[in-house]
Amino acid sequence: MTMNTQGRPTRADSAASAGVETFTGNKALQIEEALSFEIGDLARTGVDLPEPKGVNDRLGGLNRRKNSIGLPGLTEPETMRHFVRLSQKNYAIDMGPFPLGSCTMKHNPRLNEKVARMPGFADLHPLTPPAAAQGALELIDTLAYWLKELTGMPAVAMSPKAGAHGELCGMMAIKAAIVARGEGDKRTRVLAPESSHGTNPATAVQCGFIVDAIPADKTGRVDLAAMKEKLGDDVAGIMVTNPNTCGLFERDIRAIADAIHEAGGYFYCDGANFNAIAGKVRPGDLGVDAMHINLHKTFSTPHGGGGPGAGPTVLSEALAPYAPVPYVVCEDGNYHLVETRRAAKAEGESAESFGRLTAFHGQMGMFTRALSYMMSHGKDGVRQAAEDAVLNANYVLARLKQEMTPAFEGYCMHEALFDDRFLKDTGVETIDFAKAMIDEGYHPMTMYFPLVVHGAMLIEPTESESKRELDLFCDALLSLAKRAKAGEADAFKAAPVHAPRRRLDETAAARKPVLRWTPGMAD
Ligand SMILES: *Cc1c(COP(=O)(O)O)cnc(C)c1O
Repeated sequence: MTMNTQGRPTRADSAASAGVETFTGNKALQIEEALSFEIGDLARTGVDLPEPKGVNDRLGGLNRRKNSIGLPGLTEPETMRHFVRLSQKNYAIDMGPFPLGSCTMKHNPRLNEKVARMPGFADLHPLTPPAAAQGALELIDTLAYWLKELTGMPAVAMSPKAGAHGELCGMMAIKAAIVARGEGDKRTRVLAPESSHGTNPATAVQCGFIVDAIPADKTGRVDLAAMKEKLGDDVAGIMVTNPNTCGLFERDIRAIADAIHEAGGYFYCDGANFNAIAGKVRPGDLGVDAMHINLHKTFSTPHGGGGPGAGPTVLSEALAPYAPVPYVVCEDGNYHLVETRRAAKAEGESAESFGRLTAFHGQMGMFTRALSYMMSHGKDGVRQAAEDAVLNANYVLARLKQEMTPAFEGYCMHEALFDDRFLKDTGVETIDFAKAMIDEGYHPMTMYFPLVVHGAMLIEPTESESKRELDLFCDALLSLAKRAKAGEADAFKAAPVHAPRRRLDETAAARKPVLRWTPGMAD
């Protein structure tokens, strides 16, 4: 294995050499970045403090350091460069298209950022007394109003901090409602389509339910007959994504809702794909009992690498009493927070709240960005964003099907799903195709999901890509498809050759992750 000056492999052993090694390990202007601890040295340091004089050791030596504390020790310019270079390691929506299906990676308008940085919102401490935070509470309440308006639902829990967290909120409300009915021990099963996002079954299991998978029909939608067969008095609810993870609208959604209600269960809708229908369809009209809204998807707040997202969860009349605390209430123009279950009981509104989900009130920075997006778009703008998202996805579908194989027939909603039939007998697999996209300067699409499609490639362009950008993307993918069919499998297996890293051992990374630096590690 070839090592660079930092003792890191410059190419994977198995990959064919593409002659891209350099003395430094750098590739053109892509700089190899070691950890600050590996390059640091306390002899060089960005700060220069005078020796302390005449300070008494008031703790009798107990506070005296025995060893070095192991700070990295870099000059100021070195520190600056280190962090700026690290910041450039991430591919980002501000650098190019991010076609990850189901994720709705759309442009984050700078207006949102400006609003989120207003000191009155940005500098607010979560423990500020409500009397001194009236504007912020009004903002939360206004956003809640529009979320309820857009979904046609009577209540919303604002505190969940991601889509998956919103699922937890909704399923905890369902569980609380079932326990309140005295059926907690009986209703133990939750139905979820085979194509569902992994967070759906994970959430159901987390809430103590058993997950029962429903097969898809030939058109990529929930098999209604198969679903009805699974209904019974042990079913707590169903979790369905609409539009679903194949990028298709569930035509039988009303029948699904009616059937689950008739069986005494609740309908959880995964709202991650709300971008395709916002302003067009109100989930409340479809019989939904609970649905999270990923503000970082539909309402353009940034996806934060595991960082601050927001997943407000709308609830039907049946589930609203179980909503978590805290929530904002407005009386005579004054906003206050209902913080505890006891206070909720006194309020007479939510006597059966399932309790508290998060420390505070939710992600204020995301609330300001989402409301800024909504207000700058207006009702017609939100609807047009959904229409354009669907139009863009269908444009991509129409162009790519010249060389690639759509998983299902007909139009799609906001994302286009392909399978790997077009790669049959080429020796190229979905993963190779995705790695070759990196060399072309594109972040790969969502691969191998949904599981109901063999070698799935799920592309969501969103409304924020221009036709020029979409054409370039389609041209690149069409050229790759042609190369795969022309017998260039070896080149695909070697890709990526232009990226800072080649193929990584993803299994080892998942099974034996090295998460902590220790001295001498790179040697
Ligand atoms: C993104 C997504 C989720 C989870 O949302 P997070 O905000 O990432 O927790 C759930 N379901 C579907 C279909 C999604 O696309």
